[in-house]
Amino acid sequence: MANLQDDSRIAHVRSLRVARLTGRFAPRSLRPRSSQWSVPRAPYPMVLRVARPRVTRIMAFEGMLEDPVVQKYLHELVGPKGMPVAAAPPDGEVTDEELAERLDLELNDVRRALFILYENDLATYRRVRDEDSGWLTYLWTFHYENVPANLHDEMDRLREALEERREYEMNNEFYLCEVDSIRFEFDEAMDFGFECPECGSPLEAMGNDEMVEAIDERLDALESELGIV
Ligand SMILES: [Zn+2]
Repeated sequence: MANLQDDSRIAHVRSLRVARLTGRFAPRSLRPRSSQWSVPRAPYPMVLRVARPRVTRIMAFEGMLEDPVVQKYLHELVGPKGMPVAAAPPDGEVTDEELAERLDLELNDVRRALFILYENDLATYRRVRDEDSGWLTYLWTFHYENVPANLHDEMDRLREALEERREYEMNNEFYLCEVDSIRFEFDEAMDFGFECPECGSPLEAMGNDEMVEAIDERLDALESELGIV
């Protein structure tokens, strides 16, 4: 246990533990790292309504935007400042300046939201050069017909993350310091002589059945929503 005398090593281990505690250990964190969006629990609409084109409509994809799941998804993508842009896709092409004026927003916030939508296949642009001034105008079109496919992909990623996590839980034994609420894998606990490197308390074997059950419940819900039953 010579290593336990090494303060810097302990500090390093501690930072790893803290990361683990707020990451893998915390059940709330069951979300894919690639996404900032967590899929809400069931019920979850599998088929999202897509508004049919109407001649007199003011806003495109109106029906879809009533869906709270879609709203939450867009909000997670563009954030509160971009939400007015994301929540009111105009019919046809529009410039960033028109949007800023219409929605009474800062041009930069509009551009940021548009770019995020573009990165997520939810908007495209066309560049037009003014012959006199040489000025470039960007004409944007919203493509919310891709929203259902994006949501499906997000759920797929979450399912993979959950399955990976389940593997990890099933393939490891865990030990807990009840004083610090730090969880250790078996090998780590053994390295520390089954004593907490923080406070010296004995590390106790810890079951994870509840966590596996919670993961299974979420997986069941996701898979039925994805139609994988
Ligand atoms: Zn401890």
